[in-house]
Amino acid sequence: MLVLVANLGSTSFKYRLFHMDESGEKVVAKGGYERVTDHAGVIDDALATLQRDGIITSPDEIDAVGFKTVLGKDLSGCVIADQAVIDALDGFAAVAPAHNPPYANGIRQFSQALPKAKLVALFETAFYQWISSASANYAIPKTWRDIGIRRYGFHGASHKFIAERSAELCQREDAAQIARRLYLDGPADISGKPFRVVSCHLGGSSSVTGILNGVAIGTSMGFSPQSGLPQNNRVGELDSGAIPYAMRTLGLSLDEAERQLTKESGLLGLSGVSNDIRDIREAADSGNTDAQLALDSLTYSIRHWIGAFILELGGIDALVFTAGIGENNTDIRAHVCANLEAFGIRLDPSKNASCRATETDISTADSPARIFVIPANEELVLAREVFRKLS
Ligand code: AMP
Repeated sequence: MLVLVANLGSTSFKYRLFHMDESGEKVVAKGGYERVTDHAGVIDDALATLQRDGIITSPDEIDAVGFKTVLGKDLSGCVIADQAVIDALDGFAAVAPAHNPPYANGIRQFSQALPKAKLVALFETAFYQWISSASANYAIPKTWRDIGIRRYGFHGASHKFIAERSAELCQREDAAQIARRLYLDGPADISGKPFRVVSCHLGGSSSVTGILNGVAIGTSMGFSPQSGLPQNNRVGELDSGAIPYAMRTLGLSLDEAERQLTKESGLLGLSGVSNDIRDIREAADSGNTDAQLALDSLTYSIRHWIGAFILELGGIDALVFTAGIGENNTDIRAHVCANLEAFGIRLDPSKNASCRATETDISTADSPARIFVIPANEELVLAREVFRKLS
């Protein structure tokens, strides 16, 4: 099966073409466009390039296109990308303005460019379909809840991959099988010992998710990707009372407050240096206390959520680090794991120090819980889900 994974931004289009079969997967082509003003034009150009390069002889050979959609109103899961998906994306365009409109348009354009291909949307919220009502709901009036304000969670593709891979690495085929088939069969019981994972997706955008027997039980991200951990430029958790106070005191309009909370907050806002952890680390090492504060706040927040999920899960079998910061920053991993021996988390300092972006167990041999670095590959995750859905 040939699966095209389409990564659509408001001014960008990137793609990867995978050949998928039961024995595995292979990237057969990839490409991308920046500063895009005409998405339909670049989609046609990408298909023509694939033909010119001899990858396909006709666009009809592409069996499916996968879209990593973010947040749909009243719709989630891994579903055929039809008009209902477009309507769900349009319904929450105001909550995810950078993500939803490009995907709604992309689905329309691919349905015209590849009328024979199956289009599949994998929502970033899909992994959290089964979290409890207590975890999903905010203590807000019913009228607010009725318009869809609740915890949805994000990075679902990445955390679900961690659910599968960590179970495989721990030889828990029972949990791995549930995680792999989650969007086909839903959650299932495990007869023996539970399998408990805390997954830390730490990158430009970050979240921590608790996973029991291959299924998410809760996550740090809430209604929008503005929540939870400090993000690159986005605020993360903030007391709702601070927003009207800042608006009144600083004389900010709603749009300006929103802009500052999405563009000038998070690691950039705290450090005053950069939204990139490498620059922040360099500044902290040369004595910039705000940069050090950004690193410390990120670590504090990661540990806060790990602690919450260890309690909720009743213990931990695997702690996982993934995405740009989680895979590459040995110091953040070390600080996150410091003094957690009482919870069964024992980091091997030399394994940690030598591990960058490769799948590695960085715990000591006698650690009751495994600590893994597992590289994220969201395009591959998407291709696999599309293949599973259509197989
Ligand atoms: P992501 O959104 O997953 O691409 O992650 C972006 C974040 O990962 C940025 O803060 C980068 O500083 C950090 N990052 C990516 N690569 C590296 C690296 N090789 N060493 C240190 N940090 C990195």
